[in-house]
Amino acid sequence: MQPEDETGSLADEIQRTVEDAYLKLQPICRPGVRSNNVTEWTVLAGVVAVDQNSNMDKLRLISIATGVKSLPDTELKRSNGKILHDCHAEILAIRGLNRVLLEHANYLKTTGEVATDLLVFDSYSNTFRLKEMWGLALYISALPCGDASMTTLRTEASSDNETQAVVVDESDLIQYVDGTNKTILRGRMNYEKLGIVRTKPGRIDSLLTLSKSCSDKLCIKQVTSILNCMTWSLITGPVYLKYLIIPLENVAEELHLQRSLHKRIENVNMVPMKILKCHNRFLHSKSEKAQEPSAMASVKLFFNLPNLETSEQAILNGLRNGFYTKKEKPLRKNSETIVSRYAQWKFFQKLNPEITAGQSYLEFKRSQHDRKCLIEKTKRYLSPDGWISTHVDNVN
Ligand SMILES: [Zn+2]
Repeated sequence: MQPEDETGSLADEIQRTVEDAYLKLQPICRPGVRSNNVTEWTVLAGVVAVDQNSNMDKLRLISIATGVKSLPDTELKRSNGKILHDCHAEILAIRGLNRVLLEHANYLKTTGEVATDLLVFDSYSNTFRLKEMWGLALYISALPCGDASMTTLRTEASSDNETQAVVVDESDLIQYVDGTNKTILRGRMNYEKLGIVRTKPGRIDSLLTLSKSCSDKLCIKQVTSILNCMTWSLITGPVYLKYLIIPLENVAEELHLQRSLHKRIENVNMVPMKILKCHNRFLHSKSEKAQEPSAMASVKLFFNLPNLETSEQAILNGLRNGFYTKKEKPLRKNSETIVSRYAQWKFFQKLNPEITAGQSYLEFKRSQHDRKCLIEKTKRYLSPDGWISTHVDNVN
């Protein structure tokens, strides 16, 4: 383990790298000021590769994302993989990493080259691996929603609808998504209850989302790796996050992160992250109660490949900005984002016609037995009463 000043400076360097890239996004991707003069806030996240061989001072930015919204479960009925159900920044940034890895695998396969700056191709096993020099870091400008951030709500508990931080009686069924499942709570309901799976927070009067909190999703990724089912099948050896960088405000926040992301799953085979504190607060984080969350999300991917440098998209309601149609209408052509399930699966099908022939996305995902078992085992551990799944969102 490095001394505090070294890990501290690494955390600050990563934060600066992500925020510098954020400042270069097109203005539509950043929070604005509404016509009633209310300023907006958002969360920023990024995945950065850290060179483990050079005193950790060489960084390679892979993806950045902003966003704080998730969609109601009912929206998924017309999705066919095109709608991003969960637009929280850290989840989008991880999707971005997977998309970058797919592009790198495609580049190596089509050019016959042996390596990119991220991946190496092993012709003997016909698989790829992440270059050994890299350790992956996830920066988030705020505590992940759900269990890891529940204790900070004690100081914020208010009548603010958006926080939905209310204490309810243990017998009150309003706190549950499904009254027969007592191990999954709705958003910030009964926020004093710790170590429990929660759905994404939202206004109490909004339609229910079944997307799970970022705390719960990060827990699962520490067991199953940060790879999705497609990159999992291409890349040898699971790839885990090595560092989590957050502008922690006090020791209590760090202890709760440890409790929520590590102790909660210590009896499952998981790979812990190094939780490092960065010192600068993100420019557009929430600083006043009167501020409103930005509806816009965004993602920018840093491919660094010949002829494919970067790709940047503003995202509204889970689709490319400008492409949203009212609920009763079908989705417009090309409305999906570059990190959507649809876009990634179509790309993966072209890359691997022999593996994907005749299979839908979900059939392929279910065929990965080891990965599926790991996910199911972790979900059972996190929520002994069972898992409440989101609406089926398949791509043919
Ligand atoms: Zn979240």
